[in-house]
Amino acid sequence: MNIILLGPPGAGKGTQARVLVERDGMVQLSTGDMLRAAVAAGTEVGKRAKAVMDAGNLVTDEIVIGIISDRLDEPDVKGGAIFDGFPRTLAQADALGDLLAAKGMSLDKVVEMRCDDEELVTRVIGRFTCSGCGEGYHDTFKPPKVEGECDKCDANGFVRRPDDNEDAMRNRLFVYYKETSPLIGYYYAKDNLAMVDGTAAIDEVTAQIAQALKN
Ligand code: ADP
Ligand code: ADP
Ligand code: ZN
Repeated sequence: MNIILLGPPGAGKGTQARVLVERDGMVQLSTGDMLRAAVAAGTEVGKRAKAVMDAGNLVTDEIVIGIISDRLDEPDVKGGAIFDGFPRTLAQADALGDLLAAKGMSLDKVVEMRCDDEELVTRVIGRFTCSGCGEGYHDTFKPPKVEGECDKCDANGFVRRPDDNEDAMRNRLFVYYKETSPLIGYYYAKDNLAMVDGTAAIDEVTAQIAQALKN
């Protein structure tokens, strides 16, 4: 099964994707993670993307479509792909449809994760990640069980993203409404949209997604 988790920054896409990876053996295709890896590696794409990402704007369709196209050729996606943070524009959505068709894959469900804007800002500003395994945390909503130690691995270093500040986040929300939210209607019209309440507790959202994927 191949699905899209669609929602604004902070909606919980990464958090839920990691649950699906652990529970169902699907693979998480996060263009944000792939772009951050390119920035860290200092590649040509990374150099082009860095300032755009820090300001909370979108990198070009050409770059992300290229990244996703290459990633879909790797064998592990056969176990089911979770698109997280892609597509973000109508052009990307069209391109994804073409790519999947060309590779003999289908899109089974688009799960819209709906959330309240001020909650999103609070979530993103309190977000941090384990530098060892990538597990996501939140200062208030999901602190590690033992302070300073990852629940999932032996590493004890955490990182915060440069774009998880209030200015960049407010711009990312604006960009979401302007460029990405039309995808809700797009997938509704294609009849594969389901909506979950992203403001619910993490486990409750997981349960709602499981239900949505059964239908
Ligand atoms: P996204 O990938 O959509 O940008 P994340 O999964 O990184 O969002 O979640 C953003 C922040 O909110 C993280 O710090 C995460 O721990 C926290 N979070 C995720 N889901 C919930 C939830 N249902 N309730 C409260 N906090 C949440
Ligand atoms: P979040 O879900 O918290 O907003 P992501 O990790 O998905 O963050 O994305 C971080 C940044 O990477 C975005 O603000 C944007 O600059 C860039 N990016 C990620 N995915 C895409 C995409 N599909 N199209 C354009 N830019 C993207
Ligand atoms: Zn860890």
